[in-house]
Amino acid sequence: MKKNKHKKILSALLIAITLTVGIILGLWQVKPPRLDESSPDYPVYQRMMSNIERLASEPHPSGSAEIERVRAELIAEIKAMGLTPIVEDVSFTPSELAEIFLWIDGASSVEQWWFWHEEWVRERHNIHSADDWFEYMVKHQGADTLQNILVKLDAPNTDRGIMFVAHYDSVPNAPGAADAMVGVCALLEVMRAHAQNGALKNDIYFLLTDGEENGLLGAKKFVEAHPELKDKIDMVVNLEARGNRGGLILFETSPKSYNQMKTVVRSGAKPIGTSWAAEIYAMMPNWTDFTVFLNHGYQGVNFAAIEGVEHYHMPTDNYENLDRNTAWQYLQTTLALTDYAANHSLDGLREPSQDAVYFPLLPGVLVLMTAWVSHIICAVSCVLTLIFGWIQIKQRRLKISFTTVLMGLLLLLSIGSAIWFAAGAYLFYIPLLAMTVTLFMKKWTITHIAAKMVSGIITLLLWVPVVFLLWVSMVQPMML
Ligand SMILES: [Zn+2]
Repeated sequence: MKKNKHKKILSALLIAITLTVGIILGLWQVKPPRLDESSPDYPVYQRMMSNIERLASEPHPSGSAEIERVRAELIAEIKAMGLTPIVEDVSFTPSELAEIFLWIDGASSVEQWWFWHEEWVRERHNIHSADDWFEYMVKHQGADTLQNILVKLDAPNTDRGIMFVAHYDSVPNAPGAADAMVGVCALLEVMRAHAQNGALKNDIYFLLTDGEENGLLGAKKFVEAHPELKDKIDMVVNLEARGNRGGLILFETSPKSYNQMKTVVRSGAKPIGTSWAAEIYAMMPNWTDFTVFLNHGYQGVNFAAIEGVEHYHMPTDNYENLDRNTAWQYLQTTLALTDYAANHSLDGLREPSQDAVYFPLLPGVLVLMTAWVSHIICAVSCVLTLIFGWIQIKQRRLKISFTTVLMGLLLLLSIGSAIWFAAGAYLFYIPLLAMTVTLFMKKWTITHIAAKMVSGIITLLLWVPVVFLLWVSMVQPMML
């Protein structure tokens, strides 16, 4: 009796330790690395921050006087590196703009679009026809004065390469320090790092787009105007923001992203991302410049900071509120990717690839595998569980308990998700595998206790980012 009581207390204590460790480590996985003032990159970071302070001091929407200042300063900064920026004028006619609004809102005709928006437009702007409205929008949003800035660092022995993209316009009421000046200024620094590199292994393109906030206008015209780049760009890396703090999340990829993800991991960029989130994101109607590249068949990855959504498109998206660790991660990520592209061949990057399954497991570690490897581990987990169950039945020891019900559920969810949602199946079969392994062990030995705690912690490492990312990306925005 007394022994049982001791066991209960010990169990409760071990569960508490497991939960604490698992939740802390789980949350740590989605945090940005700490700004390191002793790093050789620290002076680079300081220059990036002072550029953000200067360039994102005021809102700078497309067509404004402020964006002209920002553009002039960006161009001057690039020229001071000894580089020649290519500034491309972009202009939209009212009917082209209409086409984009229809696309974004999913309307099938101008009439339908106008039917949805007529009342609002009449009341707010006293404009009475769709034609007048799109004409007004062209002028009002500066859609006839957009300018993309392109910089190409030329590699001597190849005409293929990688392209980094960030938009330098903001919404009319936000200085846009995070959205997306931190991305733009990180790109300025990696540009500077390789500006005079004569031994690049790949061309490195930097595209600073205008009009992103008005319907991805700059990116759209750029991609349409440069069909020749389609076969030359092996990877597009877009930098966005939907908040101004937290880890830099790799939240979107092109389809069959295994090769792209392998490159990101090999670069040492330490991305934070999960394949299930990317899959869910892909199902939702969301728009960034990256969407335009995806629609034209480019491959690549899309990054954004997503914590601090209360500052998104708000006057508080300013230099002061931009989290320093987050800014540091933008810089570290772009530096790692550019250094990799500068020094390694990207041959084979665009060859037919496979679906990728990836997730964080411990801070700074990303597990990456092909969907096939994931299926094999899933099968092993399920078979082991079934063997265990069969042994129990043969020995007439199978009891209906919390553990057996949970395992049965995990078994079904593993199989179901492997079939219908491969990107997220790991959330079920890894805990199942961990639980099954502990069941084969002798109870209440040190190994058994340790294995149970480790399996609990692993489960939390997998699930805490799921809950956290859903909270930050879906629940929090609804509460604002
Ligand atoms: Zn943005």
